[in-house]
Amino acid sequence: MEMQRWIIHIDMDAYFAAVEQRDHPEIRGKPVIIGGLSGRGVVSTASYEARRFGVHSAMPMTEAQRRCPNGIYLPGDHRKYARISMQIMKILENFSPLVEPLSLDEAFLDVSGMDWLYHDPVDIAKKIQERIYQDLQLTASAGVAPNKFLAKMASEMKKPNGLTVIRPGEEAAAIANLPIRRLWGVGETTAGVLSKAGIETIGQLAKADPVFLEKQLGKLAYEICELAKGKDDREVISAHAPKSIGKETTFATNLKSKTDILDQLLILSEKVGWRLRKNGYVGRTVTVKLRFASFRTLNRSHTFAEPICLDEAIYAAAGMLAAKMTLNEGVRLLGVSISNLEPGGKQISLFPDETEIKKKLVCQTVDKLKNKYGETVLMRGRVDEEKSKTKMP
Ligand SMILES: [Mg+2]
Repeated sequence: MEMQRWIIHIDMDAYFAAVEQRDHPEIRGKPVIIGGLSGRGVVSTASYEARRFGVHSAMPMTEAQRRCPNGIYLPGDHRKYARISMQIMKILENFSPLVEPLSLDEAFLDVSGMDWLYHDPVDIAKKIQERIYQDLQLTASAGVAPNKFLAKMASEMKKPNGLTVIRPGEEAAAIANLPIRRLWGVGETTAGVLSKAGIETIGQLAKADPVFLEKQLGKLAYEICELAKGKDDREVISAHAPKSIGKETTFATNLKSKTDILDQLLILSEKVGWRLRKNGYVGRTVTVKLRFASFRTLNRSHTFAEPICLDEAIYAAAGMLAAKMTLNEGVRLLGVSISNLEPGGKQISLFPDETEIKKKLVCQTVDKLKNKYGETVLMRGRVDEEKSKTKMP
């Protein structure tokens, strides 16, 4: 069964300025501006007190000084901010193994399936905020949502020290009234084009005619539209290598024939291969998990001499392992996973043979289409669509 995805975005409030106010009580409650103090410097962070004067990040320092002449201007201490950032990320890693830092003061956490520990992903977000405050005397805002894009939008909705939840079913409505500029990929030019067509809000964009949008925005149209509807399937990519990447399926009807099992292993191998490549890894050990109707469970592994990342190689190992298993009863669950992972920077050199390079290119093309149109769009010729639908939703 597919479980509900829950992503938390944590964003520290006016991070650099907040650290300085924490460490220097005399500047608490005062407008503090951190940034380049030389002639052409820009503001990197303004405290909330400074924001009331209209000072914000990326503003030229000269402009900030004009708006807030009595502000406290500091060059900042990036080493210190980086050190505290590591403490923040350590705290986050207590709450999920899947933490993706975006910058020194922001990160995504995937907390899907962890509800049983805390009842609700919202509780996890609250606990994270509490821990950060207890340990570091700094505040963070949190966004909780079914995907990365919405979680990031949510964390900005109530700042500072805010917590905003977007629940499944509320995706599109939660962002409908925001200006289109808030969408990733919509810059000034795109916003101008859309504005001429009367499209100002994300909600209007979500309802706009796709043919018209494609004409105006070209190949960007699809992705921007998906975001406008609150859809985003990018995964949280851990800063640390995962131990394994895998996928399993429980079937509505037990599988009885070897052909059916091989077909399902191919589907699973393609899913695992996709995730592996999407996360930038190669791996050496392929494991097949097979659970019978009686709940008896077998795990069998094969380790390659060299790391692999192609669907074909994963499937070759999975099929070989399954072929060796004796099937006396129906199969209710199948799983394929790959472990012994390492970053996959050097894949090309692993496939010196020309046919292997061609296979890799096919995989890359398929991956691009999957990234664009979703995973279910493409299945290789061997598996017809009906079969891929026999599993439980
Ligand atoms: Mg921040």
